[in-house]
Amino acid sequence: MNLAELYRQVILDHAQHPRNFRAQDGAIRVKLKNPTCGDDVTLFLAVRDGNVQSASFQGTGCSISIASASLLTEAVQGQPLVAVLLLDEEFRKLVQGIPADTARLGDLEALAGVARFPARVKCATLAWNALLQAIEEGEGHPHE
Ligand code: ZN
Repeated sequence: MNLAELYRQVILDHAQHPRNFRAQDGAIRVKLKNPTCGDDVTLFLAVRDGNVQSASFQGTGCSISIASASLLTEAVQGQPLVAVLLLDEEFRKLVQGIPADTARLGDLEALAGVARFPARVKCATLAWNALLQAIEEGEGHPHE
């Protein structure tokens, strides 16, 4: 199995069996849409003491958008927000074809191929835009 095939398998696995696919009561909730593709993702983020306590999502869309959201929720689970923001930066580099810190990215590297399809970058970053918005909202309400 070559690398491209391996990446394809990871994306299909996460698209068909999304991880952390559930709503969360009491969590920050951000719903975003990507009208160009019809993707629709709601991210749920519970933050405590500067750490992601739990991340989950719900939504519908193309394989790239669902796989990206699923991989995101796994990658940020239990992480400090500082690390999450760094991960976000590296992920955005990856899908734009800019050299990125693949050690930090882990399984997210499976989405590297998106860089060859500029129209799909919005699919891959949809959940990440929701993540940034959720972190911002959380900072506005530190005691919630
Ligand atoms: Zn899409």
